[in-house]
Amino acid sequence: MYEWIRKHPASHLALVTADDRLTWAMLRTESLQLAQFIHEQTPTAKRIGIFAKNSKDYVIAVHAVHLLGKVLVPLNTRLTEEEVRTQLQTAKVDLLLVDVEIDLSITQLLITRRTTSCFTVTHEWKEDETMSLMFTSGTTGRAKAVQQTYGNHLASARAAEAHLDYRPSDRMLAVTPLFHMSGLSQVYRSAIIGSTLYVEPRFDVDRTLHVIETEGITQLSLVSIMLQRLLYAGLKKHHLRTLLVGGGPVPRSLLEEAERRQLPIAQTYGMTETCSQVATLLPSEALSHIGSSGQAIAPTRIRINSDGEIEVKGPTVTKGYFEQPESDAWTPDGYWRTGDLGTMRDGYLYVHDRRTDLILSGGENVYPAEIEAAMLRCTGVQDVGVTKQAHPTWGEVPIAFVVGSYDPAEMQEVLDSQLAKYKHPIAIHYAPNLPRNANGKLMRHRLKELLS
Ligand code: ATP
Ligand code: MG
Repeated sequence: MYEWIRKHPASHLALVTADDRLTWAMLRTESLQLAQFIHEQTPTAKRIGIFAKNSKDYVIAVHAVHLLGKVLVPLNTRLTEEEVRTQLQTAKVDLLLVDVEIDLSITQLLITRRTTSCFTVTHEWKEDETMSLMFTSGTTGRAKAVQQTYGNHLASARAAEAHLDYRPSDRMLAVTPLFHMSGLSQVYRSAIIGSTLYVEPRFDVDRTLHVIETEGITQLSLVSIMLQRLLYAGLKKHHLRTLLVGGGPVPRSLLEEAERRQLPIAQTYGMTETCSQVATLLPSEALSHIGSSGQAIAPTRIRINSDGEIEVKGPTVTKGYFEQPESDAWTPDGYWRTGDLGTMRDGYLYVHDRRTDLILSGGENVYPAEIEAAMLRCTGVQDVGVTKQAHPTWGEVPIAFVVGSYDPAEMQEVLDSQLAKYKHPIAIHYAPNLPRNANGKLMRHRLKELLS
């Protein structure tokens, strides 16, 4: 039985958007009515895609799909038609739920439709049954379809509850896209724990500040560039209990500024393949372990192999990519190879960079994220991305792309004081903006396109 949305107090607030406020009873009824509508129209669909922007109906559609016992496939609305077509084929989607019909030859149903009758739920979800096929963010190239089981989602939410003290009384705000892990995991968390979910159609700085203040938001999930913009616009603590920042490294200067404002930042490390967080640094530990992503969230275990790659094992880890038995993703003793480089010190994880982004310069390891964090300290720098370039003497060297205007003398001082000489970018290019994906993550492999 998909019991998650059925067990919470009927009158407790479940879902809030700019236009609607739904109790658990209302969310249940609407989800069952949409499930019934889907069942009447296309009873045989197995994998159901969603192509829609964040909304009340998106959340209802997620629950409707699971009430039907079907597999959910969230699709990135920023993709080109051709990319969507490829993902629909890769995930073998046989029905697409949409907020606006799109020009693709696949059966489509509007997520705003309902019947007056409710679906009679019969499906029993089993621990290792695939519940969602979630595409990775596509930061490094083509996105992969990750199988996420009922057990993965449940373990992920329970770990957040135990480790970060999530409670039914929490008010969580989702400003990241629901088609990526950071957004969708909040839908599951809210449903499993019983807390209220606030959904915004997109990340808007002023609107986010307004909702945090007026609704007394307690839990917020962000990527680093969003935190930077909120800090710049004057973010204050209000009722925030945890500000989860993940998806990529958080520059130290941002952490320090957040600390000055007593914002309860929790740096977190995770990926689509691990169904969200595997390590999190609690706000209370932030200053003593600055730059760390925290300890492994029990019962998940994290270790670093002899090449410096992070490996994880635990109940939130995927059973693999869809129809792609990739045996080399696992070690012989069952750890998942993440492709990220890191170190462990006193049980605390420090994530450096992706293995593919590492710059090998004259035999030294150079991490782009470290250079970016340093350059961001220079006045006037709004955004910065570092990637590698081939070099006849050193093999590879870092080059940087900067948004904003700055004083080159100050930049030189910043580099001299923060970074060893071999880490200094060999060239710094101005850029109007950087290639970031829908989650705001820097797509380093596309930085060089800015040169042409
Ligand atoms: P793709 O796999 O398609 O290239 P992606 O890896 O960005 O995309 P996600 O699963 O959304 O897709 O992101 C997980 C990745 O984000 C991690 O593997 C890691 O590289 C990066 N990441 C997440 N948290 C952190 C963190 N705290 N510090 C540094 N990097 C992080
Ligand atoms: Mg990845």
